[in-house]
Amino acid sequence: MTRRTAILGAPGAGKGTQAQRVCAQLGLEHLSTGDLLRAAVAAGSPAGLEAKSFMDAGNLVPDGVVFGVLFERLQPEAGKPVESYMLDGFPRNRAQAEELDRRLSEGAGSPQTLDVVVDIQVPDERIVARITGRRICKGCGRNFHVEFVRPAKEGICDACGAELYQRSDDVESVVLERLAVYHEQTAPLVEYYREREVLVTVDGDQAVDAVTEAVLGALSPDNVAGRS
Ligand code: AMP
Repeated sequence: MTRRTAILGAPGAGKGTQAQRVCAQLGLEHLSTGDLLRAAVAAGSPAGLEAKSFMDAGNLVPDGVVFGVLFERLQPEAGKPVESYMLDGFPRNRAQAEELDRRLSEGAGSPQTLDVVVDIQVPDERIVARITGRRICKGCGRNFHVEFVRPAKEGICDACGAELYQRSDDVESVVLERLAVYHEQTAPLVEYYREREVLVTVDGDQAVDAVTEAVLGALSPDNVAGRS
C-alpha cells in the first residue's frame, strides 16, 4: 500500500472531508496545513500570529511559517518521522513542492517525491456554494454542509455532539480570493506531479461516498493504469 500521499484541489473541492474518511480507513495520518495553522492561530503562537492576517485575507501564508508547522509534525527533530500520511492543503505552490521533495530525498540516495497525489476536480461554479455552506465541528473537526451534508440536528455534530461553526475565511469575498490564489499558484502543481507520474485525477463533482470510493481506488497499489 502506498503511504506518502497528498490531496490537491480547489478550496471547497472536498479535500478535507475525503482526507478524513480515507485516512481513517487506511490508517494514514491526516496532515492538514490549514488545520495546523488554525491551531497555531488559536494557541497564539508566533507562527499563528504571523499566519493570521494572510489567512483572513484568503492569501497564502509565507512558506517558512508553513514549513515550520508542517515539518515539526512530519519530520520532528526529536522523535519518529511520520511515514504514512496524506497531506491536505500542502503543497500550495511550486516552492513548497520542491522543498518537500528535497526533504523526502535527503539521505535516500535518489530523488524522491510523493507516492501518489490525488487531484479532486470540481468546476469553479460549484465552489462558492460548497464553501459558503460549509460548517465545521468545534469538537472533532468533521465537515458538514447546510444543504449537501446536513447534520441530523441543525448546528450540532452527528459524531461528537459539539457545536458547528463557519470558518471566518469561508465567506464569499474571501472565497473568491482563495479561488484566484488557487488557480494562480496551486493548480500548476497538477502538471508538476503529472510529470513525476504520481498524479491521479478524481471527479469531485459527485456524491461524497462516490468520491471516497474513487480516492480509495486512486490509492490502491494496482491503480497504475488509472493514473493520468
Ligand atoms: P485550508 O484549510 O487548506 O483551506 O487553508 C486555509 C488557509 O490557510 C489558506 O487560505 C491559507 O491562508 C493557509 N494555508 C493552508 N495551507 C497553506 C499552505 N500550504 N501554504 C500557504 N498557506 C496555507
